[in-house]
Amino acid sequence: MFCKQCNIVLCVVKSYETTLSPPILREAIADRQNRAICSAPCGANKICETFKRHKFKKDKKVNKKAYFGKFGGQFVPETVMFALNELEEAYEKIAKTSEFEAELDDLLRHYVGRPSPLYHAKRLSAHYGHEIYLKREDLNHTGAHKINNALGQALLAQKMGKKKVLAETGAGQHGVASATAAALLGLECDVYMGATDVARQQLNAFRMQLLGANVISIEEGLKTLKEATTAAIQAWVNEIESAFYIIGSAVGPHPYPKIVRDLQSVIGRETKEQLAEFGVKPDYIVACVGGGSNAIGIFSAFLDDTDVHLIGVEAAGLGADTPYHAATLTKGREGIIHGMKTIVLQDSYGMIAPVHSISAGLDYPGVGPEHSHLHDIKRAHYEGVTDDECIEALKLTSRLEGIIPAIESSHALAYLAKLCPTLSGKKTIVVNVSGRGDKDMNTVMGYEKGKIYG
Ligand SMILES: *Cc1c(COP(=O)(O)O)cnc(C)c1O
Repeated sequence: MFCKQCNIVLCVVKSYETTLSPPILREAIADRQNRAICSAPCGANKICETFKRHKFKKDKKVNKKAYFGKFGGQFVPETVMFALNELEEAYEKIAKTSEFEAELDDLLRHYVGRPSPLYHAKRLSAHYGHEIYLKREDLNHTGAHKINNALGQALLAQKMGKKKVLAETGAGQHGVASATAAALLGLECDVYMGATDVARQQLNAFRMQLLGANVISIEEGLKTLKEATTAAIQAWVNEIESAFYIIGSAVGPHPYPKIVRDLQSVIGRETKEQLAEFGVKPDYIVACVGGGSNAIGIFSAFLDDTDVHLIGVEAAGLGADTPYHAATLTKGREGIIHGMKTIVLQDSYGMIAPVHSISAGLDYPGVGPEHSHLHDIKRAHYEGVTDDECIEALKLTSRLEGIIPAIESSHALAYLAKLCPTLSGKKTIVVNVSGRGDKDMNTVMGYEKGKIYG
């Protein structure tokens, strides 16, 4: 049976029916009620009628490394398994060598501009009555943390002998970071972008083209990130030997969530060292969560420091109790999306729910599997912030500190207004400023107009 949105499903189904599928695949298409779920990259998560009749046994021999607790895995067609295995092997053999680390480190230092400063925000601290430190990922080349990941993956692609990289992009930030890394390393780059997003984000689409990338506009469905991701995965299946798929967040099938986490963990390592230089110990680390890469990057260094509270801030849009939000961990349920088992926003039929946020970088109906796990074991806590609260924080940070944060990062900053009044004594709070707000000025202007005339 075909998924209406994505013919890759057929591969999953066929390989189950006609071949000895790997155990992971078998688990992929059975949910807890032993119903089959469409594990299509399109994320439709539709319960497939054909498979309701079948009984699936859960195989005990699942690849433990692919999981964070019960989340993660590799819910993909067999053709993609080949590439994931190749990637996992290359990552272990190439990326973990000291030569690779030294080369990437050199690029991060001299090209990206790392280490990014940890800045003691004195006026925000006075405003909130606690010590606020900002990790300045907004000062990176291309304006956000995304370059840490794109550059690392592109360098691995080059070392693997790939000639081309593929990337999906929503608002265009990951597309620009990938196009930048590809230009630097002399790789071809195809960026898949929904037609709606190409129109909305003309500047970023043009930027990618200037950097030498092909921007491929996708006309399917809602013509946004979900469709672009499906198209990128399909393109990858077609060019699986020559192309490397650069995923943009700590999501997708194993080993991507771990690779992205490792590449972003530089944020946490630096923060820890920089706090030590200031001679302070953190009480709270706060970061916004879309797919969760900047958050897991800064959290990773503090996971074992159990006295440090880790807080992920999701987009509550118009309110987590309305249908217009992207508060996945607050409102979602276990499901399968883009090759992973994680918490997913879905309706009662298991269909992926539409999401809303003022921030294009946070409106994703899933979340990286490691966050689902940290949420499950209560090591990290996840809170929602609305569009209105986010814009308030963007303005406050601009006026008090002369820093215009990205609207994504403004979600993390907005959480300070909720957290600080509840704390006694003077606490030390680090906020990861994942990116700068230059890209968001049109959105903020539109928001203001809506306020005045709406
Ligand atoms: C893309 C983006 C995000 C969201 O992605 P994560 O993977 O959750 O970090 C956050 N901030 C900025 C500035 C972004 O561009």
